[in-house]
Amino acid sequence: MANPIAPRRRKVRVLATLGPASASPEMIRKLYLAGADAFRVNMSHGDHDGHQKVIAAIRGLEKELGRPTTILADLQGPKLRVGTFAEGAVMLETGATFTLDRDSTPGDTSRVFLPHPEIIRALRPDARLLLDDGKLVLRVTEAGQDHVATRVEVGGRLSNHKGVNVPDVVVPMAALTDKDRRDLAFALEQGCDWVALSFVQRPDDVAEARRLIGGKASLLAKIEKPAALDRLDEIVELSDAVMVARGDLGVELPPETVPPMQKRIVESARRQGRPVVVATQMLESMIVAPTPTRAEVSDVATAIYDGADAIMLSAESAAGAWPEESVAMMDRIAVAVESDPGHLARVHFTETRPDPTTADALAEAANGIAGTVSAAAIVCFTTSGSTARRIARERTSVPSLVLTPKLETARRLGLLWGVHAVHTRDVGNFEEMVAKARRMALRTGIAKGGDPIIITAGVPFGTPGATNVLHVVRLTGNELKNYQG
Ligand code: PGA
Ligand code: MN
Repeated sequence: MANPIAPRRRKVRVLATLGPASASPEMIRKLYLAGADAFRVNMSHGDHDGHQKVIAAIRGLEKELGRPTTILADLQGPKLRVGTFAEGAVMLETGATFTLDRDSTPGDTSRVFLPHPEIIRALRPDARLLLDDGKLVLRVTEAGQDHVATRVEVGGRLSNHKGVNVPDVVVPMAALTDKDRRDLAFALEQGCDWVALSFVQRPDDVAEARRLIGGKASLLAKIEKPAALDRLDEIVELSDAVMVARGDLGVELPPETVPPMQKRIVESARRQGRPVVVATQMLESMIVAPTPTRAEVSDVATAIYDGADAIMLSAESAAGAWPEESVAMMDRIAVAVESDPGHLARVHFTETRPDPTTADALAEAANGIAGTVSAAAIVCFTTSGSTARRIARERTSVPSLVLTPKLETARRLGLLWGVHAVHTRDVGNFEEMVAKARRMALRTGIAKGGDPIIITAGVPFGTPGATNVLHVVRLTGNELKNYQG
C-alpha cells in the first residue's frame, strides 16, 4: 500500500467540511487518506458536544498517523436564518403569501419565526428576502413592528434554519454575535488552528476578532458581503487568510459578478502573501451523485489555475452521500491540472513581486535555483511559519518541506499551497540543519538519492523571523543509513 503519510501529489490543498455524513473517526480517516489536508468544523450547525467529538477524532488521527492536522472552526457570524417548521420543512408556492414574525413557535406554509427583530424593523415594502442561498425569493408587501408579510415570487422547499439574505437593506450588524463569542471561546479552548470569521464587512471586524483570538489561532476572513469588497486589500492585510465565500457572495451580488470577484480576491491575497480558499458549490452535484458535472470539474480547475491555496468542499463532504468520493475527485482534478505543462504559467499570470525583505529575496532566489538545478524540494526551517508563507507565496515549481519545532505552526500551515509540514526537534547548528534536511527529504519521500534540495533557515537558530541562509546540497541516498533515532 502507498505510504499514507507521504506528501500529496499536488500543491493545492483540499479543505473538507465535516458534518453528519463525515463525523465518525472512520470517515474522517477516509477523507484524510483520500486527500483532505484540512477540516472545517462549521459552527452554523451542530452543538459543542458534537464538535468536540469531531475535533478529538481529528487529533486522534494526527496521533495515529504522526502527521499534523489542520482544523478550521468556522463561526456563523451575523447570518440571518429562519426558525423551524412543525414538519421540518414546507413547500412555498409561487404567488402565495408568507409571513415572517417574532413568534418562536414552529412554522407552517403561512408563517415562520425570524429570530432577528432588527431585520423585521429594517425591512420596507418591496424589499426582497432571499432564502436558502437565493433559491426562494420573497417580496415584502407589508412591514409591521412584529412581522413582515411577503409575496412568494419564487417558491420552493424551505426547511429549518435556512439562511436569509436581505440585499436591499443595510443592516447594522456587529462582527461577532453572542453565539460567535461562545463558539470562539469553545474553538480556542479546543485548540483549533484557524478561526473563520463570516460576513466580514469592515477591516474593524477583523481587528476586533483578532483581539479576541489573541494569537491562539490564525484568523481567516470570509469575503461574502459586497461591503467587504470595497475595502478588500485592507481586510486581506489584517487577516491571516481569506475565503472566496461564493455561496453568500453570489446571493448578495448577481452571480455573474462572482467569477471576476474570485479573480480579484485571489489576486489580492496572493500579492499580500495570505492563503486564499475558494469555496462553495465546487462539486455541488456530488451531494447526491458519485460523479460531478463537467462544469463543476472545470470550476475546480479554474480555482487551481487562478493559484488558490486551497479548494473547499461544503455539503459534498459534510452532508452528502459521497463524501470520500468528493475528496478523491478534488484530488484527481488537482493532480490533472497541476500535471498540465501550462499550469504554473497560468498561476504566474498574477505577478507577486517580492517585498524588499531578506525573507522575500531568499524565497524568490530559492525558487529560481530550484528551477535551474532541477531541485526536488525546498526544505524550510521555520518557527513562526512566516518563511514558509513567503515561499508558498512564490508558487514555486517544487514543493516545500517545512520543518518546525512548533506543532501549532505545522498545523496552521495545512492551508498553504505546496507545503508539507513536519513537526520535528529544532536544530542547534549548521551541520545539524543540513543533516536533518537531507534525512527528512529522503524519509518523507519528497526527494530521492541524487536529487538536489534547497535549504532555507535563519541563523542563529531559534530566532524567529530571521531567514538569512540559502544552501544547496545533493542527496546521496545514504542519509538514513547511519542515523540513530
Ligand atoms: P458558509 O460559507 O458555507 O458558511 O455559508 C461559505 C459561503 O458562503 O460560500
Ligand atoms: Mn457563507
